[in-house]
Amino acid sequence: MEYGEQILKIYVPPIEGQLQRNAPLADKTWFHVGGQAEILARPANTEDLCALLAGLASDVSVTTIGAASNLIVRDGGLPGVVIRLGRGFSAVTMETDGVIAEAACSDIAVAKHASVAGLAGLEFLSGIPGTIGGAVVMNAGAYGGDVAGCLDWVEIVLRSGELVRLSAERLCFNYRSASLPLGSVVVRARFWAVPGNPSMITARMAEIRTRREATQPVRARTGGSTFCNPLNMKAWELIAATGCRGLQRGGAQVSEKHANFMLNIGSASATDLEGLGEEVRQRVFAASGVDLQWEIKRIGRRIE
Ligand SMILES: Cc1cc2nc3c(=O)[nH]c(=O)nc-3n(C[C@H](O)[C@H](O)[C@H](O)COP(=O)(O)OP(=O)(O)OC[C@H]3O[C@@H](n4cnc5c(N)ncnc54)[C@H](O)[C@@H]3O)c2cc1C
Repeated sequence: MEYGEQILKIYVPPIEGQLQRNAPLADKTWFHVGGQAEILARPANTEDLCALLAGLASDVSVTTIGAASNLIVRDGGLPGVVIRLGRGFSAVTMETDGVIAEAACSDIAVAKHASVAGLAGLEFLSGIPGTIGGAVVMNAGAYGGDVAGCLDWVEIVLRSGELVRLSAERLCFNYRSASLPLGSVVVRARFWAVPGNPSMITARMAEIRTRREATQPVRARTGGSTFCNPLNMKAWELIAATGCRGLQRGGAQVSEKHANFMLNIGSASATDLEGLGEEVRQRVFAASGVDLQWEIKRIGRRIE
């Protein structure tokens, strides 16, 4: 019996949502690369997710993915259970001074809802192509705003299956990172917002879109910024200075338009992309002594 089969038969409790064994993940990621999920679970709602996690043996690894816009899933795939939240986690509730959004909502949809309701402060979300769950975990930010600056609280389901609410301070936000209990799943978040002039909010969102389209390959198979910006430095400037623009490995390429973006220009594997990123890191280190840190999360097993 395969490991995946064993998990399905022994450890995964029946859920209202869907369970799929050996589920391909590449088509669910922005890069369009990567192997399979041993088990892909799509719980129907929060109660279903709680029951799933409570019923899983504690040694089964659990990985949650959102829109996978900040991920390289390696070619050997992901062991254990991969959770992907769907329609049952997509409600948005407007309040007079904030927005409550469920984890599978796209950042862009939340920014649009806020704009229609005349709430300002969340315009930065309009250019980030992920989900609210991923935005909280990554402390997503752009053009002067970030999640750390507007999050009120977050609700998570712990690996044990217990639903808890944490205030923003408990997440110890840092640049593109938050501290969450291992194996926990973000299900809902509340963001502060302030009443604002709808036409000014819309104009700000349009400005963000225009600036982004001018400088980034937004419609490409990419994972956004590959490396974090070192303190007081721009990763793209360090990379461009080493002449890495256009550098290729297999089907992976450093974007000509934005040197901190990598692209799958056809048939890249996760190994191509990760290898290209490591080559860029080495070149930047050799040229400047700066050790770039990955912003893109690389998860799963390598193929030996
Ligand atoms: C074209 C492009 C432009 C981008 N521009 C920006 C930008 O301006 N600013 C910026 O900050 N980022 C940017 N990104 C990166 C990316 O969109 C963000 O990091 C985004 O917040 C990731 O959200 P996601 O839903 O895709 O998360 P994923 O990529 O799926 O996952 C990211 C991390 O969050 C975890 N995770 C996801 N959902 C949950 C959940 N519900 N519970 C627990 N853990 C979870 C994953 O395990 C993983 O560790 C860009 C990406 C692209 C492709």
